[in-house]
Amino acid sequence: MESNVRDVIIMGTGPGGYTAAIYMGRANLKPLVVEGYQPGGQLMITTEIENFPGFPEGIRGPELMAKMRQQAAKFDAEFLSGSVTEVDLSRSPFCITLEDGRELFTRSLIVATGANAKWLGIESEERYRGKGVSACATCDGFFFRDSKVFVVGGGDTAMEEALYLTKFASHVTLVHRREEFRSSKIMSLRASKNPKISTMLNEVVDEILGDGFKVTGIRLKNVQTGELSEHPCDGVFMAIGHAPNAELFRGQLDIDDYGYIITKKTSTETSVPGVFACGDVQDYVYRQAVTAVGTGCMAAVDAERFLESIR
Ligand code: NDP
Repeated sequence: MESNVRDVIIMGTGPGGYTAAIYMGRANLKPLVVEGYQPGGQLMITTEIENFPGFPEGIRGPELMAKMRQQAAKFDAEFLSGSVTEVDLSRSPFCITLEDGRELFTRSLIVATGANAKWLGIESEERYRGKGVSACATCDGFFFRDSKVFVVGGGDTAMEEALYLTKFASHVTLVHRREEFRSSKIMSLRASKNPKISTMLNEVVDEILGDGFKVTGIRLKNVQTGELSEHPCDGVFMAIGHAPNAELFRGQLDIDDYGYIITKKTSTETSVPGVFACGDVQDYVYRQAVTAVGTGCMAAVDAERFLESIR
C-alpha cells in the first residue's frame, strides 16, 4: 500500500489549485490534481480579466486557466478528472474516495475547492449573465462607466459591491428583500453617505429585462404590497452571498459559521496537520484570482514543509 500513497493530492483546479500544483510539481513531489466537475473554477465563467498582473491587454478567464494547467502539467502534475465524494482525514495517510469508488491515499492534502457566488435562480438572470448580469463588481465594474446599475443583497458584500461600483457607475441602487440590512454598521453607513447610492427596501427581483443582447432594466416586486415596478438600468450585480465548497470537510476540519474552512493566521494550515486550504474556500474577504494564486503558493510551501517534517 505504501507505494500507492501520494505525497500530495490537490482538490480543485481554480487559480489556487493550479498554483499549488505548479509549486508542488517544481518541488518534484508529483502532485495529483483532482479536477472536479467544473475544471478551472469560477474563472471559466468570467469573460475578460483585466486585473491579473502580467496581462496588460487582458486575458479571457478560460485562456488563463488553460495556461495555468499547462504550466502545472509541464512540471509533471498529474490530473484526474472526477469528483471526490468522501474524505477521511481521521487516518494517516488520508483517504479520498472518488465517485466511482476508487480510493486514493495521500500524506498531505491541499483543498482548493473554491466557492460559488449565489444566484437568484431566475431564468432571465441566467440569460443575461455576462451581458449585464454579474456577481463580481471588482471583475466587471469597469464595464459600467456612467451607467445605472442595481445591486441585489443586504449584507456586507452588497455594500462593498455598491461602494465599489460608484467609482464607475453614474448611479447605484441597492435592492434588499427586507426592511433592514444585515451588513455591519460601518459598511451600511458608508453606503448611506454615498450620494451615488440609493436603496429600495422590501423588494425582490421579479425579472431582469433585456433586449436579447444586454440588460435594459429590472422588474421588482414589493414583498408587502405585491406591486410590480420596472426600472431602466444597464447592469444588475448579485451580492446575495457565496457558498464555499467545503461540505465534504464538515465535521473533519474547523469551518466557520458561513461554511468557510478556517486556516491559521499567516498560513494555510487547517485544524488537521497535513491538510492545507487555499483560495476562495477559505477566503470570504478578497476572493480574487490573484489572492487565490497567492494562497495556492502558500499552501504548496506549507505542504512541502509538512512533508519534510514527517520524513
Ligand atoms: P450575507 O449572507 O451576509 O448576506 C447575504 C444577503 O443577501 C442578505 O442580506 C440576504 O438577505 C440576501 N439574500 C440571500 N439570498 C437572497 C435571495 N434569494 N434573494 C434576495 N436576497 C437574498 O453574505 P455576504 O456575502 O454579504 O457576507 C458573508 C460574510 O462575509 C459576512 O460575514 C460578511 O460580514 C463578510 N464580508 C465582509 C466584508 C468586509 O469586511 N469588508 C466584505 C464582504 C463580506 P437577508 O438579509 O434577508 O437574509
